[in-house]
Amino acid sequence: MNNDNTSFSRRGLMLVLSSPSGAGKTTISRAMLERDANLTMSISATTRPMRPGERDGEDYYFVDETKFNLMAGRGELLEYANVFDNLYGTPKIPVEDALLNGQDILFDIDWQGTQQLADNENAKKDLVSVFILPPNTKELESRLRTRAQDTEEIVQQRMAKASDEMSHYREYKYVIINEDIETSVQCVEKILAAERISIERQIGLHEFVQNLRAPN
Ligand code: 5GP
Repeated sequence: MNNDNTSFSRRGLMLVLSSPSGAGKTTISRAMLERDANLTMSISATTRPMRPGERDGEDYYFVDETKFNLMAGRGELLEYANVFDNLYGTPKIPVEDALLNGQDILFDIDWQGTQQLADNENAKKDLVSVFILPPNTKELESRLRTRAQDTEEIVQQRMAKASDEMSHYREYKYVIINEDIETSVQCVEKILAAERISIERQIGLHEFVQNLRAPN
């Protein structure tokens, strides 16, 4: 795979987007996947039940707890965590293949998974972590109040979860306050463009410069 502005290949990167639910992360992720042909979504395994409209192998790999624990025990997951009483994890092999092929991967994982990637000596050099915050409490609450029949208690529970997730913003490299989707998507595009040309990701740079200095 060619780099964006050079003639040699580069290593892919892991673009992690985390946020409390209701901050607009899903919309930003979808827009990024539509606009950027070199970006693919990592498909996680989960023990949570499938929701209407979801498809196995597309939204998640839906597995039971025994299978999940087997995958984790065999070291097949790059990271995994218990999120709101369900297990979620990232299968390792597709990620490793993509990175070697110069493909970038988008992850929608929580702060626990991001922490594991940041603490992993191999994974951390490929990690680009972005945290998305809602512009204000009113906006967050209105996005969390998705259904008219939600009780006040449910809305307050969601707000408490969001507050807990937001307390981890410091652990990320970039933070975007999502006031406007288009502006936020452009921010993520700029982060991606800059991170793609970071020196560690440009495999073959040394030979390229050697050649420039002594073409014959
Ligand atoms: P949902 O069940 O609504 O699809 O996702 C719930 C939460 O689980 C989201 O915050 C999402 O970021 C997180 N999540 C999804 N997949 C993974 C994963 O593979 N690892 C981790 N650590 N979190 C995940």
